[in-house]
Amino acid sequence: MSKRIVILGGGTGGTLTANRLHRHYHHKAEIVVVDQDDHHVYQPGLLFVPFGLAKHSEIVRPRHEQLHRDIEFVLQAIDRVDLARDTVVLENGSELAYDVLVVATGTVLAFDETEGLTGRGWNEKVFTFYDLAGATGLAAALDEFEGGRLVVNVVDMPIKCPVAPLEFCFLADWYFTERGIRDKVDITYATPLDGAFTKPVASAALSSLLEEKGVHMVTEFNTGEVVLDDDGRAGRLVGYDGREVPFDLAVVIPLHSGAAYVGRSEGLGDDLQFVPTHQNTLQTKAKANVFALGDATNVPTSKAGSVTHFEGEVLVDNIIRFLDGKPLDEGYDGHANCFIETGFGKALLIDFNYDTQPLTGHFPAAVGMPLLKESRMNHLGKLMFQWVYWHALLQGRDIPGIGAAMPTRGKQAPTPDNEGATA
Ligand SMILES: Cc1cc2nc3c(=O)[nH]c(=O)nc-3n(C[C@H](O)[C@H](O)[C@H](O)COP(=O)(O)OP(=O)(O)OC[C@H]3O[C@@H](n4cnc5c(N)ncnc54)[C@H](O)[C@@H]3O)c2cc1C
Repeated sequence: MSKRIVILGGGTGGTLTANRLHRHYHHKAEIVVVDQDDHHVYQPGLLFVPFGLAKHSEIVRPRHEQLHRDIEFVLQAIDRVDLARDTVVLENGSELAYDVLVVATGTVLAFDETEGLTGRGWNEKVFTFYDLAGATGLAAALDEFEGGRLVVNVVDMPIKCPVAPLEFCFLADWYFTERGIRDKVDITYATPLDGAFTKPVASAALSSLLEEKGVHMVTEFNTGEVVLDDDGRAGRLVGYDGREVPFDLAVVIPLHSGAAYVGRSEGLGDDLQFVPTHQNTLQTKAKANVFALGDATNVPTSKAGSVTHFEGEVLVDNIIRFLDGKPLDEGYDGHANCFIETGFGKALLIDFNYDTQPLTGHFPAAVGMPLLKESRMNHLGKLMFQWVYWHALLQGRDIPGIGAAMPTRGKQAPTPDNEGATA
């Protein structure tokens, strides 16, 4: 009898998983995708919206159109998963039974967790670019900004695409230079980390780049409250340790959590509503027939589309193994790969996994795109990626030379000071 695979979330991970499974099973399995809306946003494009470099129409497409026509799309919010009954309960009260469940519901932006964030001044002096409404509103605010203190702040980790706030700083430097008012704008990056990034070699490279571009860093800053001045013209971030960062315009990346239904599903999630998942097989700790990928998991690598893509390859293979009664493959090594836009038509590229931090060298082999080094080639790669996303990645096609396992050829050997022979 044909098996039913229910996929929760029709974003990056849910869509590519459904299409990959369909490529394997065709009509031999029933594949169902559930999502609460029908607008698939190409999230890396949100970075470009505030600077007038991407339009709404270019980065949003109907969700159901990204799925093969034989895949069933259910447009409904999820209320909870009943693990004991292998059933998903939807918000309208209907139920979906499954043989295998895939959790791909990403993250929620938890604005309310930071006092004052969405109070007075929200979407006037304080913005986010992590959703479409915020990115669009910020475009108008940047356009009107004639000078002053711009503060970019990450409230806490983990966030999706941890390099996107840095890219925002680099693009702001470029944007105000183009407008001829860079000398009137003071850009500050306030982060809870002790440097620009989590991994030492990349953190050092990115911290120097921020310095080079005149972006000040405030480190180990944990935002407790956002306060707007009485006249509403400016405000300040107040840290839990009492430090204050004043701003005329603030761009805040709020705390992230998993989807609320995870919290309502007994045994599925952790305290932050992320789903405890085996970091190599992508099988959840909740139950053997439940798998998870993308931002929704707790695996110790970046929350990124590239990670979701690489995880998807291993996860689909493991669902097939599971349904065939074979042992799972521990093949996901934490591979992550991110272009970092640095402004002026250039970008950096980083590539890493659970064991190897981002290193210098080239990707995907000794001849290729430069790693941890600004180049025009990387910028073109970042722009081209949008086409690859819609036409190859979401469709579940393999991308030649770029797969789940991190390539080591072309990379410098890891040493404390990053000097060494090419691996
Ligand atoms: C500004 C920005 C820039 C980024 N840049 C990059 C980049 O350059 N490179 C990169 O690799 N990654 C980047 N990312 C991250 C990347 O977009 C995400 O990591 C990726 O989309 C995660 O995929 P996902 O399937 O886990 O989640 P998503 O694609 O977010 O999908 C989750 C889906 O679940 C649905 N859902 C959630 N709760 C429910 C519910 N209760 N009921 C029904 N449906 C529900 C949502 O509607 C959504 O469609 C960026 C993200 C942002 C915000």
